[in-house]
Amino acid sequence: MDIQKFDNEWQRLKEQLTINDKIIITTHLNPDGDAIGAVFGLYWYLKNEGKDARIIVPNDYPEFLQWIPGNETVVNYSKNRGEANEFIKKAEVIFHLDYNDTKRSGELKDKLDKADAFKVMIDHHPLPQIVADIKISDTSVSSTCEMVLELILLLGKTETIDIKVAESLYLGMMTDTGCFSFNSSNPRTFELVSLLLKNGIRKDYIFRMVYDNFSMNRMRLMGYCLNEKMVIIPEYSTAFISISLEEQKLFNFGIGDSEGFVNLPLSIKGICFTALFIESADKIKISLRSKGDFPVNIVAEKYFAGGGHSNAAGGESRMPLPETLAKFKSILPLYEKELNSNQ
Ligand code: 5GP
Ligand code: MN
Repeated sequence: MDIQKFDNEWQRLKEQLTINDKIIITTHLNPDGDAIGAVFGLYWYLKNEGKDARIIVPNDYPEFLQWIPGNETVVNYSKNRGEANEFIKKAEVIFHLDYNDTKRSGELKDKLDKADAFKVMIDHHPLPQIVADIKISDTSVSSTCEMVLELILLLGKTETIDIKVAESLYLGMMTDTGCFSFNSSNPRTFELVSLLLKNGIRKDYIFRMVYDNFSMNRMRLMGYCLNEKMVIIPEYSTAFISISLEEQKLFNFGIGDSEGFVNLPLSIKGICFTALFIESADKIKISLRSKGDFPVNIVAEKYFAGGGHSNAAGGESRMPLPETLAKFKSILPLYEKELNSNQ
């Protein structure tokens, strides 16, 4: 990332972290590997500095992220509102990591908006909306974890990058780049990975904990989705999968079980746009992915009240599943040229 560009922000942050002690670290709803890695990387750094730090997440995250050291210290807002509110009330500094709008923090939003702590956003999503005292936003960086690592290095305490800090941050660098297969052509990313390796991270262990730790039901559901649910629309270079509530019951669906499914059809030759629709009681959660330069965040923003990155975005629909799928299909002709020139 362009470190110089944020010189003033780093200096002010350093000052705040010197004078303040009570620090809350938050992230977005349905936290992913980068969200969890970033909050824990910063958490362990601040703990090592003797700070009274706390992580508050809006809701649960999948089991394949729960091996992270300190997992039991997290305050889950959906389960422990009272405790979380107390911490937010007392907080002197609040971090917003890996999200650009407090709307993305679900029911935490109001409490965060009203809190009068010093607020710091560190994020790599486009168009940040958060009102914060310090905003460090850089869409060119592949993960928030990488930004947090740059921050720690700038704060000048390399020796406090212990194994817990290093492994947490590696988690997000690995997951937000699909194991360094996309968004990872900046040599700086690998310089930082090299530094983490020198600090003793168990790279292969982290891979196994994230990618070889799924339930049998998830594997069966994946097979079912690929065999029976994947719809391919060659004329628009598009493929999508939907999973209804009924199907979820059939496979004893748990949080994280559909993680990565949206990427699967992208490996089909000629497919450059994919979508995954997951039905829940009150809405359909939508994930969008693309290869090349088809900007799925525009589709997410325009049609599904969402947003994200150019190649990975998400949103939601309040219509029933069949209508949502019909809407998705009706959008494709509008992008025919872009989709078919993007092979
Ligand atoms: P996923 O499909 O893995 O849930 O999300 C992919 C990307 O899209 C993430 O980087 C996330 O920030 C963004 N995203 C997912 N859901 C939403 C949403 O409802 N609103 C916005 N603004 N972004 C979303
Ligand atoms: Mn991220």
